[in-house]
Amino acid sequence: MNTDSVAQSQEPQIKLGSPMAIVDGVSFSGGDFWTNYGGNQSIQTERLFYPRTLEDLKVIVREARDNNKKVRCVGSGHSWSATAMTPDYMVSVNGLDNIHSPVQSRDGSGWTVTLETGVLVSQLDKYLRDHSPPLALPSNVVPDVVRFGGMLTMGCHGASLNARTLSDTITEMTIVNARGELVTYSEARDPEAFNVACLNLGLLGIIYTATIKVEPMNIRLRVTDSYPTLESLFLGPQAGPALKARILKNDSTEFLYWPFQHFMKPEQNKNIWVKEWERTSEPAEDLKKYEGLPPMVDNPFFSMLQTGSRVMEIPDALHFPIGDGVTTVEDAGCAFKVDGDFKNACEAIAELVKLNWTFTTSKPECAGTAIEFRFIKASDKILSPAYDKDPEAIYCMINVMATSATPGFKEYSCRIVANWISKYHAKPHWPKMWESVDNVIPYLRREYGDRLTRFNLVRKTQDPSDMFVNDTWRPLFQENEL
Ligand SMILES: Cc1cc2nc3c(=O)[nH]c(=O)nc-3n(C[C@H](O)[C@H](O)[C@H](O)COP(=O)(O)OP(=O)(O)OC[C@H]3O[C@@H](n4cnc5c(N)ncnc54)[C@H](O)[C@@H]3O)c2cc1C
Repeated sequence: MNTDSVAQSQEPQIKLGSPMAIVDGVSFSGGDFWTNYGGNQSIQTERLFYPRTLEDLKVIVREARDNNKKVRCVGSGHSWSATAMTPDYMVSVNGLDNIHSPVQSRDGSGWTVTLETGVLVSQLDKYLRDHSPPLALPSNVVPDVVRFGGMLTMGCHGASLNARTLSDTITEMTIVNARGELVTYSEARDPEAFNVACLNLGLLGIIYTATIKVEPMNIRLRVTDSYPTLESLFLGPQAGPALKARILKNDSTEFLYWPFQHFMKPEQNKNIWVKEWERTSEPAEDLKKYEGLPPMVDNPFFSMLQTGSRVMEIPDALHFPIGDGVTTVEDAGCAFKVDGDFKNACEAIAELVKLNWTFTTSKPECAGTAIEFRFIKASDKILSPAYDKDPEAIYCMINVMATSATPGFKEYSCRIVANWISKYHAKPHWPKMWESVDNVIPYLRREYGDRLTRFNLVRKTQDPSDMFVNDTWRPLFQENEL
């Protein structure tokens, strides 16, 4: 169950409270009961706003200021932490979905596109593919149903070693702050504030637009899926260097492991799914010929995976479906810096397979678990869990996951994250489950240290009354002001 690709169709659920009302042209409903994609977070909100324009965002901020309310935005609701939630005013950004014409830099070296933050990944993919010349984001998250506001705010990432996080692709951002002013952030205007804006956790205000770098789609990706043994990849003295060589050879690499060899049978899985992407000038294949192939894996959740190699257009290669379209999952994930010889990555993976086996076989209801990991280059965004001064540093983005409502998963995943923290100084990926990990706040304050103080200085200039600080972020940013 790769959460980064499973069950992509599920949307967060909203049980409407009172009928729609309008304030200065902005629709909202009252008393809605909102639940995220994973089903592990829900809240009753006083108002859920549906803005469509910049002016609407200013009205919402004014309403919040006049009524002394907190504000949090929500996109597709695919985060597992409670970051999007407040009992006061939630703002669905889905109606802010305009995309401006891409622009080529004067020296012809690169392209950027400006989009509103409710734009879906699938929407931008199509827009860029239809553009002349066709353009693409060279690396991206696996699902195409999430929105740019959510991804950029949280520092989301793909699987490419030629890329960092999506926040690292931003060249400009506009955000409506707590005073209702639209502020433009760019490296040229103010490098420190721009760095903060690129991965801002929704704490500078309501992001209106983001301008991101895109590339001409003049290459394709060869995607090769294989199912080798765990032992051949992660055990033995040469495992680390061999893994490193494999990762460096590819544009992108993703690993996916589920614990049982066969569905509903007790044997432990000795094999791991590996997806490797390489850049190629070969033409893309007609993917229709691969439709309807018999399943290779007798687990309904992973049955659409097929080993083999095929050449695809970039967006088709980056987003792939897994899952039965019904089951949702929960996920705890972290970033940790990989050693020069990848030894710590091999050790972490081998240990996680063991711990996961103990959990997954502890009760029949715990059987639906999985492990997923990828590698990316470091980010220079000060609140990125993959932050590093060395731009060549490689980070392992590792996840443990289970079918939603698996009993004991929250506690189990907290222990796993705590273990990664103590062994590898891992830092939680903000949209995943991390808030219940023991002592996580003092740890994060220590680890992020001065960067947290720098972030807070910028934040306070935009939101002096903490309008955008909810219970997820209050312990980190507001309690005992840094
Ligand atoms: C099946 C699945 C697969 C996933 N795969 C990946 C993956 O491959 N890589 C990865 O890195 N992550 C992955 N994730 C995590 C996911 O990308 C993040 O949770 C992302 O934030 C989801 O976007 P969203 O539109 O659902 O945002 P939401 O969860 O709705 O919001 C996320 C945060 O962004 C804030 N926000 C949104 N818009 C704005 C705005 N306009 N202004 C201010 N704040 C805003 C919200 O307040 C909230 O704090 C996956 C999640 C799922 C469920």
